Amino acid sequence: MDDYIAIATLNDFIFCPYSIYLHSVYMETDEGLYKAPPQTKGTIVHEGVDKKSGSTRSHDIFSLPVFSDSLGIAGKIDLFKQDRKLLIERKNNLKQIFRGQLYQIWAQYFCMKEMEYDVQNLAFYEISTNKMFPIKLPSNADRAELANFIDKFKKYNPLIDTFNINPNKCRHCIYCNLCDKTSVDNVYT
Ligand code: SF4
Repeated sequence: MDDYIAIATLNDFIFCPYSIYLHSVYMETDEGLYKAPPQTKGTIVHEGVDKKSGSTRSHDIFSLPVFSDSLGIAGKIDLFKQDRKLLIERKNNLKQIFRGQLYQIWAQYFCMKEMEYDVQNLAFYEISTNKMFPIKLPSNADRAELANFIDKFKKYNPLIDTFNINPNKCRHCIYCNLCDKTSVDNVYT
């Protein structure tokens, strides 16, 4: 399982592949060193899910660990409503749905299918507005796109592979103040 890609990092890899390297370097340190307010909020949202707050319905499954041998990924879902066969990923704010966020929920979906859960619907739930955003089930082409992306992720080498440094992204990156690739300041400081 060590070689499995964490589903939660798929979106981060799209944002900046180098952030994955920095995460692995700093993951053992105090989170206060690098976590900015939006990320702290996100963590609290998921802690709420982990503690199973928000619903007491017996047919709701929270924080289920999931994995896929065929894709080489593992993670945890937020919520599966068995009565509606609905997999839900909760977000604080969803101004728009990014590709990486789609990859995240697709990845959870494929894991659950491989584990023989009957998932037939997907949705994001925006906590700040209490709105649900239904998502189409991924097609075969979507699965191939996700598999290709995971393959790139697995092959990524921070010492060799180049990437475009985008100062605008850096300003909003939680590792900005610890990153050797930029000298811009984090907007959260
Ligand atoms: S600060 Fe910039 S270059 Fe460094 S990890 Fe973040 S986004 Fe990437």
